[in-house]
Amino acid sequence: MRVATTEPDSPPLSDSPIAIREINQLRILNALRSQPGLSRAALVRQTGLGKATVSTIVAGFIARGLVREEGPEVQHAAGRRPTRLELNGEAFVVIGVELTGYECIAALIDLRGRPLRVLHRPMPESSPQSSVDTIVAAISHLMAGRDDAQLAGVGVGIPGVVDAQAQRVVLAQNIGWVDVPFARLLQDRISKRVSIINRTNADALGEYWHGSGQAADSMIYVSVGMGIGAGIIIGGKLHQGANGSAGEIGHVTVVPNGPRCACGNTGCLETLASTSAMVVRAKQRIKEGERSVLDTLTGGNLEIMTGSMITDAARQGDEVAVAVIQEAGNYLGVALANAINLLNPRLVVVDSEMRDPGDLFLESVRKAVNHRAFSLALAAVEVVPSRLEHLAAAIGASTLIIDQLFSSIDGLFDSAGHVDDAMHSALNAVFGDDSSDSLDSLQNRVGSS
Ligand SMILES: [Zn+2]
Repeated sequence: MRVATTEPDSPPLSDSPIAIREINQLRILNALRSQPGLSRAALVRQTGLGKATVSTIVAGFIARGLVREEGPEVQHAAGRRPTRLELNGEAFVVIGVELTGYECIAALIDLRGRPLRVLHRPMPESSPQSSVDTIVAAISHLMAGRDDAQLAGVGVGIPGVVDAQAQRVVLAQNIGWVDVPFARLLQDRISKRVSIINRTNADALGEYWHGSGQAADSMIYVSVGMGIGAGIIIGGKLHQGANGSAGEIGHVTVVPNGPRCACGNTGCLETLASTSAMVVRAKQRIKEGERSVLDTLTGGNLEIMTGSMITDAARQGDEVAVAVIQEAGNYLGVALANAINLLNPRLVVVDSEMRDPGDLFLESVRKAVNHRAFSLALAAVEVVPSRLEHLAAAIGASTLIIDQLFSSIDGLFDSAGHVDDAMHSALNAVFGDDSSDSLDSLQNRVGSS
């Protein structure tokens, strides 16, 4: 069963009847999240719970509109037609946000990961305060005409290193943030559960749950733009590393004495395979005397060259543009072959901002991977393009909130051992009033122990 979560494994659980009921409810929700369409009988098999328990809990969920019955499963030989169960996508909604550094992408997302509304807001100013203002305005726009209680929380993808435990932005160099308690700043304004994550990790979670990554419990997501970053999922869990900096594939060395990188090293992948690297390389080749339509496309001023001009030129069959894209793809393939040997993933998802003709870039990546990766690891892996593209991070950030609702009861408690108010009200909306009693009892029990 696929369970992607950023939460640690659950601690041993109390055998209090209230806690057990809560856990059983979460197990059933989780099973239906991972495998929509299970019947009651399949839920019994999946969760190991008794028939009566499953029936009672499912009936409660259906009465509250959280789960609904769909058409019957495949006809059984005996003629029994068990009913398929699914989460009701709109039982509640979450909002996923991506801050890119120059834009805020916000999406209203249903329980099944489908975007219902999407907003793009330019962000000429990216201070923490103005970012909070922009997100708050986006939330009220997205929630217009909906009951506020339906909103379970807001997940935000940040262009920087995030301490997932402390929910602080450690460093976001290109927007100038150092040690910003961003989750708290936003939570203070909206009184809802807020969770933040590095935006490339959010991309990875989005693709894992709802994009190209479905069904692959080990996956590397790599994003190629002005920089290069990766998100790594191992055993269905996001791997963020010792201090949140896992996935910096842009700074693995590919050519030891290659170009100088902003990080101080030389020959980093980012200096050879990013969009900016392709622009640098194309300019070089033209200055060295190669003929290219890029000369015309830039009006003779090579300094204004962009990545999309290179793809335009490649579309016209321009040899310099084609060569530059293939070289970059080759370098990315070299780095990915190393990562594949190290991690043995089932899937590599590549998202490139270069919309090049005929998958030139991706094909060069695949060629290098096929050429260099260890045969056993190569046999297991598939290299595919991303499916969610610019919405991956917003959708992925929203899965943090759903994870917190569905993963484990320790997600219900904040670090002080108290039930989080925002989570409490979200659960109230979902489980109904009697769960607030059980949550209060749980809180008292934890508080007094
Ligand atoms: Zn570097």
